[in-house]
Amino acid sequence: MTDLQNRIIHGCQLTVLTCIDFRLHGAWDLHKCMVDEFRQGKDPGYGFYDPLTLPGACHRLVRQTLTRKMIVIEDLGASVSMHSPETIVLIQHEQCGGYAADQNIQFESTAHERRVLLEDIVASARILRGHFPQLTVLGFIARVDDKRILGMDRVFDSSNQHVTDQAQASV
Ligand SMILES: [Zn+2]
Repeated sequence: MTDLQNRIIHGCQLTVLTCIDFRLHGAWDLHKCMVDEFRQGKDPGYGFYDPLTLPGACHRLVRQTLTRKMIVIEDLGASVSMHSPETIVLIQHEQCGGYAADQNIQFESTAHERRVLLEDIVASARILRGHFPQLTVLGFIARVDDKRILGMDRVFDSSNQHVTDQAQASV
């Protein structure tokens, strides 16, 4: 079997790190956003992405113990070695309980919250590029209400070091 055949059968396009929050996953809302963002609305049904869900997502990588950080890197590494994605996608979200539980952080506004979420995406990308230099890292911030995800904004791309948050800029 060639590498290409192996990738078609066992590979996936993306490895995703995001939060456990039910608002992202109810009725596959995040999945729909991912299909719109990366597949122009056409759900391939398979071979698309490996999801790794952890409370606080990037919070684990940049604001917790070295042990917890290394576990996340190992888990992402398992996806990378098994399924050969080309991209790691980091999805943070507004109103995240993982951040609310951190007594070192007090958000003063939604703009402040998004700025911190973006800072952690950039810091996470730096860490992950050190471990997986062959991969592109993309960062998103998901907008939510009390029940569900409303959409997600692309705020970071390691391939051009592009960092922007239109939603924050417009606040
Ligand atoms: Zn969360």
